[in-house]
Amino acid sequence: MSGQQIIKKKKKFADEPNFTEKKTYRPNDVKETGLAFVGHEISDDGKVMNQFLHYDQLYTIRHGWNSPFFKGLLDGKIMGTYCPICNDTWVPARTHCWRLNCNLEHTKWVEMPLTAKVHTWTVAGWSGRSSLKRLPIVLIYAIIGDSKVAIANELHKIKPWDVEFGMPLKIVFKPKEERIGAVTDFHFEPIDNWKPSPMNKEKERIKKLVEPVYEWVKTMK
Ligand SMILES: [Zn+2]
Repeated sequence: MSGQQIIKKKKKFADEPNFTEKKTYRPNDVKETGLAFVGHEISDDGKVMNQFLHYDQLYTIRHGWNSPFFKGLLDGKIMGTYCPICNDTWVPARTHCWRLNCNLEHTKWVEMPLTAKVHTWTVAGWSGRSSLKRLPIVLIYAIIGDSKVAIANELHKIKPWDVEFGMPLKIVFKPKEERIGAVTDFHFEPIDNWKPSPMNKEKERIKKLVEPVYEWVKTMK
């Protein structure tokens, strides 16, 4: 195929973004092993975000069409997408509708409410080294707003045995200066004035399983 023919073909790829807003937060003591987000950059048109993950070596994660979600985290917002045909909404975002009738319709972005509901949950009694002292950790899948899918994150300010399916939650962000555009920028908490239901057999069972974890963590230096 000659060069002439290639030029005539339909342009397939987007223009290379021009990254102008760059931030570095590589810790001074970062070693050649381990995992850390060490920076990110945002293109001058605000459309694309690259994130730099050091995991034994430096990786660049191009968020592409999903960039608004990660940029939104920097601003303390949860961005989702919806289909303009059927109105299904998703967090984590989908770039195209999943319904066959919508023929892969390109979705639009929408700012989601900072409220959610527990869909599924579990209690972590063991973890990677960096989180051991925070155990036990309540990990949940939550439905944000009217999303059709659930997103995973930690649930704080609750005893692990008090978690309930469907319980109402709020989304709490870290202070702006600590945010890095990753899902660890936020966590879930029960809504204000939420009261757990009285203890029952199942809650007692979970409590018995979890209490040794608290004791074990106290022994850690
Ligand atoms: Zn649709």
